[in-house]
Amino acid sequence: MQFAEPELDELYRELILDHYRHPRNKGTLDNATSKAEGFNPLCGDEINVEVELEGDIIKDVAFSGRGCSISQASGSMMTAAIKGRKVADAIALLGDFKRMMTDPEVEPGEDLGDLEAFQGVAKFPVRVKCATLAWHVLEDGLESKS
Ligand code: ZN
Repeated sequence: MQFAEPELDELYRELILDHYRHPRNKGTLDNATSKAEGFNPLCGDEINVEVELEGDIIKDVAFSGRGCSISQASGSMMTAAIKGRKVADAIALLGDFKRMMTDPEVEPGEDLGDLEAFQGVAKFPVRVKCATLAWHVLEDGLESKS
C-alpha cells in the first residue's frame, strides 16, 4: 500500500472494508460473453471483469484481481449493483458513478445506493483511479461486445 487510507465517513469505510474482506461475485464465469481487464499503475491495482449477457440483460457478472481495498471493494460493489440489470441501466450507473468521483460538488443520484460510499474517495485524486478502475474495465468489456 503506497498511499495512506483516506479518511472516510465511518459507515462508508465499514461498507468498503466489508466488500474488500467479503467480495461479492468474485471469480470467473463459465459462460462469459465478454471479458476485459485493466490496470492502475499509480497504485498497482488489477481488475478483470467478466460479463454474461442475455439479450440486453446482464445475466451474470464476476470480477477478479488484486490491489488496494478501494479498488477491490469497488469491483465487488459494482458487480452487486449491476447484476441482473439492463446494459443501458448499467451504463447510466457508470456515468453517475464517474460524475460523482470526478466532481465532488455533484450530489449523487438515489440510484447509486451503496456506491455513495466512494464519494469520500473523490476528495483524494490519487485514489479516484482505484475507485473507478472496475467501472472502466466494465465499460471496455461492454463496448468490445457491441
Ligand atoms: Zn488502489
